[in-house]
Amino acid sequence: MSEPSTETHTFQAEVQQLLDIVVHSLYTDREIFVRELVSNASDALEKLRHTQLSEKEIFDDNLPLEINVTTDDTAGTITLQDFGIGMDHDELVENLGTIAHSGSKAFLEAVQQGGGERNENLIGQFGVGFYSAFMVAKEVKVFTHSWRPDARGWCWTSDGSGSYALEEAEGQRRGAKIVITLKEDAKEFASSSRVKGVLESYSAFVPFPLNLNGEKVNTVGALWMRSPAEVSEEEYKEFYKFQAHAFDEPRFWLHFSADAPLAINSLLFVPQQNLEAFGMSRMEPGVALYCRKVLIDRKPDQLLPEWMRFVRGVIDSADLPLNISRESMQDSGMIRKLSQVLTKRFLKMLGEKARKVPDEYADFYKNFHRFLKEGVVSDPTHRETLADLLRFESSRTEPGQHTTLGEYVDRMGADQQEIYFLQGGTRSSIEAGPYLEAFTARHLEVLYLTDPIDEFVMDHLGSYREKKLVSGDRQDIQLPDLPEAAGGESLDRETGQELAGWIKGKLGERANDVVVSERLTGSPVAILNEGGAMTASMRRMMAAMNQDADLPPEGPVRFEINPRHPLIHNLVRLRTEREEDAAAVAAQLFESARLAAGLTEDPAPVVRHMNEVLARLTSAEGEAPAGTPPGEPQSSGS
Ligand code: ADP
Repeated sequence: MSEPSTETHTFQAEVQQLLDIVVHSLYTDREIFVRELVSNASDALEKLRHTQLSEKEIFDDNLPLEINVTTDDTAGTITLQDFGIGMDHDELVENLGTIAHSGSKAFLEAVQQGGGERNENLIGQFGVGFYSAFMVAKEVKVFTHSWRPDARGWCWTSDGSGSYALEEAEGQRRGAKIVITLKEDAKEFASSSRVKGVLESYSAFVPFPLNLNGEKVNTVGALWMRSPAEVSEEEYKEFYKFQAHAFDEPRFWLHFSADAPLAINSLLFVPQQNLEAFGMSRMEPGVALYCRKVLIDRKPDQLLPEWMRFVRGVIDSADLPLNISRESMQDSGMIRKLSQVLTKRFLKMLGEKARKVPDEYADFYKNFHRFLKEGVVSDPTHRETLADLLRFESSRTEPGQHTTLGEYVDRMGADQQEIYFLQGGTRSSIEAGPYLEAFTARHLEVLYLTDPIDEFVMDHLGSYREKKLVSGDRQDIQLPDLPEAAGGESLDRETGQELAGWIKGKLGERANDVVVSERLTGSPVAILNEGGAMTASMRRMMAAMNQDADLPPEGPVRFEINPRHPLIHNLVRLRTEREEDAAAVAAQLFESARLAAGLTEDPAPVVRHMNEVLARLTSAEGEAPAGTPPGEPQSSGS
């Protein structure tokens, strides 16, 4: 026999921080600790059941797979015992001394961001797993023995202040027994009737017998195996909370069963909250894989496409081999088929929501659009269906209202071959920029892309219903001729080209090309993208995603001047009178166009240059040209 030894460990700093908050919170809904511990017990039993499939030798193998809760109101304790996989020495240190649980991590991050004011509410939102026991505990003891035959039994003890003790414990049965000595103000949880109420409302879905003081409290097992007609809305919501360890309500769910080509029973949920939107770490996949109610993998990352990681729930297929492993999942045709069927069905459900309850869909979209866009980029199989779910404002929608690519195509005139879009920070910045006018003048609709990743997404999508998606700042767009009289009288061809050549000479390498514009109507100048080049907004997005990297080089640009604009007319005149001033104005027009195109990283030099130009134009030497102060072009012209 080895000599009994007590080790004292300090908690990882983050755990201590978490415990301090948990212990001192005035959170009123303290009963959630019961649910957290029961769901841990249930997880441990599911892991054991799975281990039994592959391991021949299991410690205490004849124990029933069940959870026993006992209360003792004389001693003021509540005890939760399961015969699950248990923990060995190192697992105890790892699991109950550091933070692994994603809810606890998310909770800590939120506390750090939010200044820690409403921590009690946050506990309710995220749950803090095992550590929630310290909301009610004076002391927690965990007696445990791992399923491994050669392991020893251990007792873990802590009062939640700074450290925990580990001591070898003889005579342990397999699994974990958590004994909580309750604080004075939490003695209610030593009462059988109080705990019964909690267990009944929270733990109806535990797939193992759950006993309270020797009496079974739960009846329901695998909800996903039942027929949808027999399941109430309340049951779905409670199941979601239980299964996903969630604290919000699900927005939508899909309860889907099929016999062919595969036997499937599945239940997929869309959460209320997008945890990644809090600026938190990437979510782990949340749809568990079962085979005939036996858990195969709680978080399989090979099952559904990566962009679906916000979805929670269960997929059960009786056709899967029970001993399927993580490795064999990767190249299993069956898993691929399963994934495809469910992804398609899930997207169909979203499409139906969008049609039937557009307001609910809009709110979902507001919170989860990034996942759908990620899908467009990364999941070619479902790209088209995902594209149907995208929403944009456009030059035909009211501010704040959205349209779809399908609606856009339906509205297109017979001659229009392409779908146009413009990227910008906001609707108003797109409308104030120099690019929209060419389309407005020709009654062509333009989609407004206001999310920085939108253009990247459009680029991957390429086309929709065989119509190419084209950025409105590209120089190679073939636009129909302008209706007569639009945009005022034009410079004659020769004068225009002469001026363009002169400007190109002044700008040198900075512009690839200076061209007399056929598309501009209201703005004097604009910078257009050479086809195929990376646009300004895509450059910015790449820089934002990878902040340490250098900005990718700018694509070639084309500078267009509007031969119908009074400012350009004045420039022709100024050039003959005071060429140097005219060159300064041309350079400033170029800088302004770069600014409007989003190409300028630092506006300070542009402003300095503009002030120099203004100084030049207002100096005593020359009169202001043709009565047109820069920035206020008048329609005199010619
Ligand atoms: P989570 O359960 O979300 O992972 P917890 O903080 O509740 O987070 O638990 C941390 C870890 O401790 C679990 O992942 C599990 O490995 C282990 N654990 C907790 N309770 C038990 C138990 N009853 N039996 C075996 N292991 C457990």
